[in-house]
Amino acid sequence: MFPALFVSHGAPTLPFDDVPARDFLRGLGKTLPRPKAILGVSAHWDAEAPTLTTAVKASTIHDFYGFPQPLYNLHYDAPGAPEAAVQIAELLGKAGLAVRTDAQRGLDHGAWVPLMLMYPEADIPVLQLSVSSRLGVAHHIALGEALRPFRENGLILASGGFVHNLRALDWNGGPEPEWSVRFADWLHGALTERRSDDLIAYRSRAPEATRAHPSEDHIMPLFVAYGAGETARRLHQSATFGSLRMDAYRFD
Ligand code: ZN
Repeated sequence: MFPALFVSHGAPTLPFDDVPARDFLRGLGKTLPRPKAILGVSAHWDAEAPTLTTAVKASTIHDFYGFPQPLYNLHYDAPGAPEAAVQIAELLGKAGLAVRTDAQRGLDHGAWVPLMLMYPEADIPVLQLSVSSRLGVAHHIALGEALRPFRENGLILASGGFVHNLRALDWNGGPEPEWSVRFADWLHGALTERRSDDLIAYRSRAPEATRAHPSEDHIMPLFVAYGAGETARRLHQSATFGSLRMDAYRFD
């Protein structure tokens, strides 16, 4: 079985930033056998209902504004994975989770930035499943649980942010603030001790939850990966721009 991974993708400039999280992602693909397909679950596709990409070839969406031109020149030209889309739609259907498909949509930067670092050859078929942040934590854990059989041949790559408050960033790269550490420590404990009830109620139970995640899109992919496994192990821990936590986990 392949693990379900959760990675923090940070700023879109990550491929050009000399930070520990980039070097971690560059090495991560080499620690795993080669999957038949990769299912990306990115914070940057927040849809009303679960939706799968079914394109035969994945295109690259540059879904960010005002960054340096070299970033817009990057492309991740991986094959799509329409067969995996059929399997995943069946798995979710069996669990009572109706899924929509989108044959036009490509990969957003939450998916292609980590993929480019992990698998620069871009030769493994990739598809994406949306999150639906208004449906809450339990929905995303259920999505992950339904996806478990996909791990036999496929890699689940959930991509968001462990602490993600863009207004609170320190662009001068100061030390990580105490509130961010407190939230991240709580979340680490809840994940590794499998305190699902606490996770489902994290907005009221975790210290600094609304400060760490003013909106919930960047934490929802984490709950999909959590649901897809039974144990959690932290693979990476760092912060950039003060509070932007770049932690990564594997769920087996
Ligand atoms: Zn993001």
